[in-house]
Amino acid sequence: MTFIDILRDHLDEFNQVFDQQITTSIRQAIYAMLTCRTNTERASHWTCQGCAHHADFPLSCGHRSCPQCQHNTTTDWLAKQQAKLFPVEYYMVTFTLPFELRVIAKHQPELMYQAMFSVAASVLKEFAKNSKQLGGDIGFTGVLHTHNRRRDLHPHIHFIIPAGSFDKDKKQWHKSKGKYLFNAFNLAKVWRSRLLEQLTNKLDIKLPEGIPKKWVVDCQHIGKGLPALKYLSRYLYRGVLPDKNIISDINGQVCFEYQDSQTQTTEIRTLPAVKFLYLILQHVLPKGLRRVRDYGLLQGRCRKLRQQIQLMLAVAGAVFPLVHEVKRAVAMRACPCCHQPMRFMGIHKNNYGNGRTTSLITTT
Ligand SMILES: [Zn+2]
Ligand SMILES: [Zn+2]
Ligand SMILES: [Zn+2]
Repeated sequence: MTFIDILRDHLDEFNQVFDQQITTSIRQAIYAMLTCRTNTERASHWTCQGCAHHADFPLSCGHRSCPQCQHNTTTDWLAKQQAKLFPVEYYMVTFTLPFELRVIAKHQPELMYQAMFSVAASVLKEFAKNSKQLGGDIGFTGVLHTHNRRRDLHPHIHFIIPAGSFDKDKKQWHKSKGKYLFNAFNLAKVWRSRLLEQLTNKLDIKLPEGIPKKWVVDCQHIGKGLPALKYLSRYLYRGVLPDKNIISDINGQVCFEYQDSQTQTTEIRTLPAVKFLYLILQHVLPKGLRRVRDYGLLQGRCRKLRQQIQLMLAVAGAVFPLVHEVKRAVAMRACPCCHQPMRFMGIHKNNYGNGRTTSLITTT
């Protein structure tokens, strides 16, 4: 049982019931998923390097919300982060939007998520500057999640922070010692006041009643180097609901399992199929909104500086893998006849209507 199967089976009813709530981005995601690996108009063409075998395969949609296309993004991210690895302790700081403000995220997601990213990043940079241990420029990566374990709307941003900073003037690298980064209580206080100020004064948004005085920021020590990154990539880069967590779709009721965040036990949530579809599809982000953002030393344009720091640390005896920036993972296929690697030759467009069978439109 896959999400796409359920979508295909209940699409008409879903369109009727949720017509008003389906945004353009959700419609595009639905179209992508329904044509993923099934669209026979376009196919990738492969030939074997060991024998004469050649074959066509339908294209994957590559949409970030598609459960079938999720795995590649996780692997790509880990490869990219690995090249940016620093031999220091890693922390994860999570900024959560309180319940009362989620209604704004629902109706104006671009505005809200943009504000969350910029405010949270400015808070972190300031705490790093004022920190006795760090006191310089840091780098971090933010990943937006919009769901909780039950898959309700629950926007939060996880920031992965290597606890080291660079002093540009002295050309010195400082690394934070111990298992402590920032005071989470103070982070939450500043997070609250800055975000509310941004929403009301800069964005002119009318705030709902009853916004709580206390907000939540969580600061967690993750561990050192590569194992920490691997753990995080699995944790952060899962799709909203992996297909393996869907248990059944019987008589219009869908069951899926999730791990309760308090008790760590596996729970089952059951709801009508169309409501289930909306539960998951409400997390489709507006097109073009970046879910993952690098800041400071981890930004793309700081690559040279990063490599200098890594080299400096390696010379000083730090043990960590110097990995080169990795490009997107190259698609691989093994030949079903001789098991040699097959070579991607390009994309075929099948023109069934006009008598021609196929034409090769791109090659790499
Ligand atoms: Zn072969
Ligand atoms: Zn797909
Ligand atoms: Zn999360």
